[in-house]
Amino acid sequence: MILIYPPVSKPCEPPAGVAKLCGALDHHGIGHRVLDANLEGLLGLLNVSPAPSDTWTSRATRHLPEHLNSLKGWGLYQSENRYRRAINDLNRILAMTARSSRVRLGLANYEHEELSPTSSADLLRAAENPEANPFSPYFEKRLVDLLKAQQPSAIGFSLNYLSQALCTFAMIGFLRRECPGVKLVLGGGLVTSWMRRPHWRNPFDGLVDHLVAGPGEASILSIMGVTPSGDNPYSPKYDSLPGRDYFAPGPILPYSSSTGCYWNRCSFCPERAEGNPYLPVPVERVIGDLLRLLDHHKPSLIHLLDNAISPSLMKAISEHPPGAPWYGFARFTRHLLDPDFCLALKQSGCILLKLGLESGDQAVLDALQKGIDLEEASTVLKNLKKAGIATYVYILFGTPPEGQTEARRTLEFVVKHHDRIGFLNLAIFNMPIYAPEAQHMKTKSFYEGDLSLYANFDHPKGWSRPRIRQFLDKEFKRHPAIASILRRDPPVFTSNHAPFFVMRKAAR
Ligand code: SF4
Repeated sequence: MILIYPPVSKPCEPPAGVAKLCGALDHHGIGHRVLDANLEGLLGLLNVSPAPSDTWTSRATRHLPEHLNSLKGWGLYQSENRYRRAINDLNRILAMTARSSRVRLGLANYEHEELSPTSSADLLRAAENPEANPFSPYFEKRLVDLLKAQQPSAIGFSLNYLSQALCTFAMIGFLRRECPGVKLVLGGGLVTSWMRRPHWRNPFDGLVDHLVAGPGEASILSIMGVTPSGDNPYSPKYDSLPGRDYFAPGPILPYSSSTGCYWNRCSFCPERAEGNPYLPVPVERVIGDLLRLLDHHKPSLIHLLDNAISPSLMKAISEHPPGAPWYGFARFTRHLLDPDFCLALKQSGCILLKLGLESGDQAVLDALQKGIDLEEASTVLKNLKKAGIATYVYILFGTPPEGQTEARRTLEFVVKHHDRIGFLNLAIFNMPIYAPEAQHMKTKSFYEGDLSLYANFDHPKGWSRPRIRQFLDKEFKRHPAIASILRRDPPVFTSNHAPFFVMRKAAR
């Protein structure tokens, strides 16, 4: 079997979903090869170098080898300006290279002028005409070589982001033509979301043999004719992935200790709306996996991928430190009110926590059922700062209970805590079309397309997207205390590279 991770997503760490499938296949002795076509494809296009048509592109092309090297060294993460220039230059080269294909391409972006990743008709068009894809010179040769060498009976794609969808279908279309007898399997986070839509009907029948929703281990094994053993006893395997080639100063080990979310109560949360059950890996196994993977791969950073790391796992990690710095998403919970608990986390290697605050208004938080008390959140931020754990705080504007007055309270909260917040992520709320709460609102299609996951809605307080954008640009982002936090955010790679800046700063 061949497992493919298609372009485009941030090329900074190996794909965790593919590593889990490798673990399951390996456990049953099923031969497999992995192709990180995202990393290889992006590097391939960068090295094609566009014909220099302007000063910026010529300069970016001249500095390409230096930029690629520096992203893999620690020095770059000491200077926000040098880092920003390297990323902007790489994005410039990609944009200019893909321009003739009518694609706006970047290190984490793929937008076609005409084809939409939320339209099944457009995805089928991408499959019918793979040659039009800017990655086709790379993937056509690579896939033909792989097919000759491996002669697989099945090829699986892991499709997680909209920015991967059109390239995935271009590759599928090419393979359907080249090897009509090979089974094509499509799974991953985005496919799961499509298939969890109410009234889902498969528009890819005849092109894709199997669509897989949710964790794919059991499905992929049964496609390969094996009965899965027990209750998913497989640990991820990263051996077939190119550990040192990613855009990071050292290998990152992504690890997921659960699917779903242990809290699972926030209204309008896509995870909850999709009805994804909370399935944690037993804590003892997580600790065992981490120790074994660390021993084998010697990563510079562990990325815990859970929607929210459970307090029991945090406690277990603090008692059994894995031996490398780690970061991930956590909730503002009472455990973090204990300064000693925060200190123990820090001593276990916790370098940064991503925290979904969403709002600085208590009534909004209560209406969203976030389970956050703002006074406690304030203490948590203080404790983490004191313990030396950086924070990446996520704010969500435009939820149904929020209006401008409430958004201003969020601004006040952030300003008041600016010295305890390392990084900020600002987003505007998208209504999941299948959220039960969406049924009570007047909605209309948000993106053109039958696969779109979000709906536009008439905000009950008139707090529309244009008004929110204006508030963000003219008020929120302009506040000097907030502007200085936003300037720290690594462009494109954001929270994936933020821990490296924190580690460099701590080392100085
Ligand atoms: S904590 Fe995050 S993942 Fe969990 S229910 Fe709330 S928004 Fe969803």
